[in-house]
Amino acid sequence: MALRPFNFKAQLHQFPPSTPHSSGRKGGACRQVKIWSGKLTRVDGTGGELCALKIGGRAAMPHIVRHEPWGVIDIVLHEGRIFFQQDWYYLWQVRPPLAPWTYEEKRNFHNTADRQIWGVWSNRIRIPVQLAPNADSRARDFVSRTAGRVPINFDIRWVTRAGHYTVTVIKIPAGAPGRSWVNFGTRQITLHSDDLDPRGACTDTDVCTDNGFLTAPHEFGHTIQLPDEYRATSPHVSDTASIMNIGRQVRPRHLQLIVNTLNQMFPGCVFSLPAV
Ligand SMILES: [Zn+2]
Repeated sequence: MALRPFNFKAQLHQFPPSTPHSSGRKGGACRQVKIWSGKLTRVDGTGGELCALKIGGRAAMPHIVRHEPWGVIDIVLHEGRIFFQQDWYYLWQVRPPLAPWTYEEKRNFHNTADRQIWGVWSNRIRIPVQLAPNADSRARDFVSRTAGRVPINFDIRWVTRAGHYTVTVIKIPAGAPGRSWVNFGTRQITLHSDDLDPRGACTDTDVCTDNGFLTAPHEFGHTIQLPDEYRATSPHVSDTASIMNIGRQVRPRHLQLIVNTLNQMFPGCVFSLPAV
């Protein structure tokens, strides 16, 4: 697979992004990627590589980065943090007779969606981490740096060529019908222009909220393979405050796919879901 530098600096300092990124190769990107043994290699999506980022000639900053079809997980060793980043490639559609999307409208949609997803998902839950029996000094250093609970941040990037998800956004008149959805298997999202407004929602068991539901952060949950919890058949149908139900709170169970993936990335560490 092609070299795909991880744009750590841009993520830290241009957050939230106000303009589309052109596939993570903008300035400040990882110019030199090393396996910890010192052998030059590529971060190629097969996962688990420890790389050293050299930015502006400063000292190496060690990361463990894994590219999944649904996003990038970056364990920032020296900061004891985890970044999750998902690239969205937008297709902007219009329901006639509305005017085409202006750049300003596109930028506002992306920035608002990104901010809502960040606000609902980031820094809400710390992921417990313990040392594995084979832990090396790198794992010991990471666990002590995090005090055994790792914060995680979520970032959505607007990219101008194929990303993790292809996101069709349909401009519709306010209040017009339009159901948003995500297909995890084909990595497609369909959203509507009024999805950024908080709205009411009901469970299949007829419990309703007036104004508490945020569509974009809910749909984001589907991009990490989460099912709807407002279904009568869901074991969590009564947890109406949950973002995957009709509320806006993240639960430990929502990080299952990320925790499973983390456990394939860092052999010296065992990540788990926090107790509820
Ligand atoms: Zn849903």
